[in-house]
Amino acid sequence: MDYYLTPVTEVAAELTTSPAGLDAATAGQRLAEHGPNQLADAQQKTIWQLVLHQLADVMILVLLTAAGVSVLIGEAKSAYVILAIVMLNAVIGFVQEYRADKAMEALQKMAASHAQVLRDGRPQEILTAELVPGDVVLLEAGHVIPADVRFLETHTLKVDESSLTGESSNVEKTPDALPPGEYPLGDRLNLGYKGTSVTNGRATAYVVATGMKTELGKIAALIQTAEVVTPLQKRLGTLGKRLSVVALVVGALFFGVGWLRGEAWQDLLLVSISLAIAALPEALPALVTVSLALGAGRLMKSHALMRKLPAVETLGSVTYICTDKTGTLTLNQMTVEDLYEVPAVTLAGLADRNGLLTALALNTDASHDAENHWLGDSTEVALAQYAADKDYARPALEEQFPRLAELPFDSERKCMTTLHQTPEGVLVLTKGAAGSLYKQLTDSQQAGIADLTRRVDAQAAQGYRVLAYGAKMLPELPADLTPATVETGLTFLGFASLLDPPREEARQAVAECKTAGIIPVMITGDHKLTAKAIAEKLGIISSEDELVLTGPELTALDEPAFAAVVEKVRVYARVDPAQKLRIISALQARHQFVAMTGDGVNDAPALKNADIGIAMGINGTEVAKEAAAMILLDDNFATIVEAVRHGRRIYDNILKFIRYLLAGSAGEIIALFCAPFFGLPVPLLAIHILWINLITDGLPGLALAYEPSEKNSMRRPPIDPRQTIFADGLGWFILGVGLLVGGLTIGTEAWAIRQDLPHWQTMAFTVLCFSQLGLALAIRSRRESIFSIGLLSNKPLLGAVVLTAGLHLTILYVPFCNELFSTQPLTVAELGLAVAIASVVFWVVELQKLISRRWKRPGVQVPALSGGATLALVSD
Ligand code: ADP
Ligand code: MG
Repeated sequence: MDYYLTPVTEVAAELTTSPAGLDAATAGQRLAEHGPNQLADAQQKTIWQLVLHQLADVMILVLLTAAGVSVLIGEAKSAYVILAIVMLNAVIGFVQEYRADKAMEALQKMAASHAQVLRDGRPQEILTAELVPGDVVLLEAGHVIPADVRFLETHTLKVDESSLTGESSNVEKTPDALPPGEYPLGDRLNLGYKGTSVTNGRATAYVVATGMKTELGKIAALIQTAEVVTPLQKRLGTLGKRLSVVALVVGALFFGVGWLRGEAWQDLLLVSISLAIAALPEALPALVTVSLALGAGRLMKSHALMRKLPAVETLGSVTYICTDKTGTLTLNQMTVEDLYEVPAVTLAGLADRNGLLTALALNTDASHDAENHWLGDSTEVALAQYAADKDYARPALEEQFPRLAELPFDSERKCMTTLHQTPEGVLVLTKGAAGSLYKQLTDSQQAGIADLTRRVDAQAAQGYRVLAYGAKMLPELPADLTPATVETGLTFLGFASLLDPPREEARQAVAECKTAGIIPVMITGDHKLTAKAIAEKLGIISSEDELVLTGPELTALDEPAFAAVVEKVRVYARVDPAQKLRIISALQARHQFVAMTGDGVNDAPALKNADIGIAMGINGTEVAKEAAAMILLDDNFATIVEAVRHGRRIYDNILKFIRYLLAGSAGEIIALFCAPFFGLPVPLLAIHILWINLITDGLPGLALAYEPSEKNSMRRPPIDPRQTIFADGLGWFILGVGLLVGGLTIGTEAWAIRQDLPHWQTMAFTVLCFSQLGLALAIRSRRESIFSIGLLSNKPLLGAVVLTAGLHLTILYVPFCNELFSTQPLTVAELGLAVAIASVVFWVVELQKLISRRWKRPGVQVPALSGGATLALVSD
């Protein structure tokens, strides 16, 4: 049915519904019939898919091949062990991925959007996913349209359909049926589409299609979005490909050299495959996802809800945090501290009431409920409350002077107007930014503007938000109700000074940003002087070089001029949301990594374009939330900084994990590969290599994800997102540790063979194993010694190391395992010696950290961030 060609009543009949909405029972039935109102790719993986996913891994396939080869060459025993290891590995992988999935599911539930509907005749809020055809939804500015709908009632409704039609101007919608004909999507003026957003007005509408049957669903079916890949995963992917080539070459070379030396090809083949496995970092990308998902779960506990997984990783790279002022840096608890009345202004029609207080009470959208709680925007509430305390309560006054019409506040005009009936005519009351009002005053008042400006500026300079009031009388309600006609020829009544105290925790967070090489920037619609005063209180501005720029000043700057100063601006005042985009692109052009907050519909483009868009959880609109990568559940600036700290920790830990895995593999490869060049037999059997790779490397490696923040994590510059994984000497570290581990293993082997010890192979195996465990402990911190961070500060890791050591001893001393793993029980002396040799790796890495701590003692230089200024940081 073409709903746009049909009158509303017929639409209702077709959907068997009415303007009062559905009842809960019918809605339940329809939900079962039509399925949830969501796009298909949001569906969860089943447990079986997770298991299958584990088994489809390339490494597992290689392992299974190895098992096959073992059977072929009559080594069925090895095949069992390989299979057991594969199973164990799959179980570990499954548990991790399952936990990550649960974490993501919890996040998705938190981020799930809601819709207002009429059910059982009452307005209620339900999950968008539970909408069914026939539901009556209530829409207003800031909402995302939750399903495809047919409007039944609209009030100056405007919808932004650019996401669907590409049409950038907003479309005005009506409930009227269209005359018969062909209409493209954008011309169906009585339909609203899922995923588009209401920018203005309000409406009620019938849901006509949900889920994949909506227009958005039809497109989604065509593109079926692929899984997200984070920047780090991309880099790891490339690294993985290169390492696969290395693995193949190493395996082939090993096989070739052994063949030439006349060794049995069967053994060679198995060891070659094991070697290739050692070099393959197959599990890395998946483990990054797991770390990120678990990290996102942790972030939620700190009130930062991540909507996009890559943002968890890139949080650590933020160099600029551009944040709203009201509510984020301040408490959003406004109180009127002072009133200024222009002398000798009286308003006709008010009898002998005070004009300014009357305006305070009437020009407001604040109200209070039965329990005397005030409702509404904090500015509005503060003003209405102040008037009420002076016996100018809104309800009583509105009874006498009923509101006839209004021009709502918008952040571009920076004022709002209400029109009231009085015995003498229609009273127009306007309040807003003083600057906006000056332009509209009567000629007779123009002369007083200089004096008013002086007074207003004096208040603003103390951090007060100043709201000015103007009024005029009209004989009757004008036909054309637009700001251009109504908000002119006003008489200035006076102004109110409001105080919104800065948040204490924001002040600390600002200080923390500065030591972390992050620049906090305030963006506000407030007066320049108000903004500057608050910024100074918070520490955002602390020197003369740090600039305050206003919206009009920004407009006057051309691109090169703005680019020259953008890194020095700390406060943008009197800006409108559209200018946020310009700020972001100017900063990004200077290679800054920008986090930007927003709450309104017109903030959405900025939130999308920022490197990390952050929406307000409490005061934010649905549209802003959908555009953002992260939602601040408590609207608090300090939470952003806390999230950055976590982001840095998560990134650090992923890097530690990569270091551990690659350094360990390098050790194994060097040991196996080089032994023959010293005339020694291959130190390990294939099974030993698999054991080390999957158990010794795997368990402690995973536990590195639980490592707490490094002490200096917020005292060093942000992570450059363009930097390679190998920056910071990772390559040298891997090579160094690899040579050390390989050397120790070969050395032990050579010595033991020379001493005619029959257990030489088990000794080499034990050295290799325990040196990895020592590495895991030493690698926990990049800088600090393990003794200063404490063994117990990462209990999962300690547990993993103890467990792995225990498992190793089991395969050394349980006779049945000796058989399976071709190991022999070591004597106490042999075991002691092996552990002592292995511990060298631990001590060397600790020593390296000690040297680098001493070396860098005087302070860490943070590279130039703000126009050449450098921060010298003391290392502790
Ligand atoms: P912020 O960045 O602090 O959220 P807003 O866009 O809310 O700034 O406000 C910008 C300016 O608009 C304020 O400085 C004030 O002068 C004016 N203003 C704010 N709220 C109202 C309102 N409810 N009615 C009239 N004017 C307002
Ligand atoms: Mg505001």
